Amino acid sequence: MIAQREIEIIRQMDTPRFVVTFMRSQTTGETEISLEGKTAGRHLARHQQVNILDEDGRLLESRKIDDRIANFVFDNFLQRGDTESFQIFQSDLESGKLLPRKALATTAKQVRHQLTDAERSFTANGEKLWLHQPIFEKYAATGFGSIIRATLTNHQVCSSNCQFCSTISRNRKDSVSLQEAKDFVDQLYFGQAEYNRTHFPEYNEAYKKATGSDIRLRGLILSGGGQPNLWPHFTEFVDYLSGLDISLGLITNGFPKKVPDEIYRHFDWIRISITPESASPFYPGGRFDRQYIPPTIIRNPDLTVGYSYVFGPWTNDDILRRIAESIDQYGFEYCRTLADCNLTRDAQLTAHRELAERLFRLGLIDEDGNPTGKIFHQLKYHGTKAEADIIWENGQCYLQTYSVFWDTTGHEENGHSFCYPCDSVTVLTDNSEDGSITTAERKFNHQKWGTVKNTEVNCLFSEPVHPFFDPRKVCTSCLFMKNNQVVKDIISSPPSKVSRIPSRIKHINFP
Ligand code: SF4
Repeated sequence: MIAQREIEIIRQMDTPRFVVTFMRSQTTGETEISLEGKTAGRHLARHQQVNILDEDGRLLESRKIDDRIANFVFDNFLQRGDTESFQIFQSDLESGKLLPRKALATTAKQVRHQLTDAERSFTANGEKLWLHQPIFEKYAATGFGSIIRATLTNHQVCSSNCQFCSTISRNRKDSVSLQEAKDFVDQLYFGQAEYNRTHFPEYNEAYKKATGSDIRLRGLILSGGGQPNLWPHFTEFVDYLSGLDISLGLITNGFPKKVPDEIYRHFDWIRISITPESASPFYPGGRFDRQYIPPTIIRNPDLTVGYSYVFGPWTNDDILRRIAESIDQYGFEYCRTLADCNLTRDAQLTAHRELAERLFRLGLIDEDGNPTGKIFHQLKYHGTKAEADIIWENGQCYLQTYSVFWDTTGHEENGHSFCYPCDSVTVLTDNSEDGSITTAERKFNHQKWGTVKNTEVNCLFSEPVHPFFDPRKVCTSCLFMKNNQVVKDIISSPPSKVSRIPSRIKHINFP
């Protein structure tokens, strides 16, 4: 990463959402293109490389950005957007313009991949919803939802500048108080259990029989802002949560030293996001595997710890090998790898294919796509408009029936913020037939996808489920179509249908 004081700005332009700058270090000669969000947060993504592709979308090489590449990126940025601009066809680069070409149309079947127990356990691919069947029987019969999983972003602070950041357009100042966070959880935990005991005793008893719990919040993830543990009330809040019977998950890209190591013992799982190594100034020597890891999470049999790694132009063989070594070094359980969700479906599936080939070449998966060690590949990709029209024929997102994502965007200005059914709304990306791309918003937009204010989260279980937006119009590239489909399958199945989810699947409260 180039230090700001020593840069020479070579080219710069304003787009509706970013200031795009090509710069060179005056001391090392290194170059990069930075994207600075124009929202109050002024978050940065810094790109040092691009992927060079052949006509079939196969990765020829990751190449450092030189003057020619930078000019190509600038000249085509408005058409290709903030992510695909860094995936360049060699023939386009050589001719200096975007040549007409057919869509790549890579399919999931072309990706060397097997759905493993690790992927089923450590990602939300929808299967685990079968283990919560009574809440969907309640929904089918009464129209009322049951919020069993929640994700909270209590603030928006992050020390990194990742190229693939899903919320690059956020406001750094948006943050909630400890009391607001507790009130939110109390509604979903105490308020919801009481509501179901009183109004839906039959379904509550059925859920209790199946899971040992009233219908209430079962799984809570602290996420967002890159490092949720930089939120000033993190320790106190986790202490509070540890007194409730809720499975806790943490997604972070680092461990600030001022947070006591003991607090991490309260989590059921922790997922450490490995950023591109040049994007995190706190990686000693620019190495993710030299960052501080709290001793309480190393070889701790009561805690599942995994890594997450996004494949892109910043990926090389060395980092993938070091991820495998680091997992062994700390006794971690897994690393989930996947393609950048800001890419369009075509580009994303093509990137998945290239990721799988890289893992295969390095011996990290076998020829059928089975992991040979603890790195697994999550084959997560955007849906299509045709699928959207079929799944949501009545215009209702089904994640809204069981899941809530509270994001604090707008909290500073309004004193409240909004709930969403999922976090994939920040990375919805479409390409049209003429090749132009509707890029992801890379922020939470409550006017488009918001449901209720954080202060009214009780409405998600105490009022009949109804659409707040039409997903056929605003979610055609949803990343959770499979999960939506599973809910539909459960609510249209006879109550006697028994789930076939193997008992060895873990993290069942994060479906
Ligand atoms: S992206 Fe999918 S899961 Fe998320 S709100 Fe839209 S329809 Fe629902």
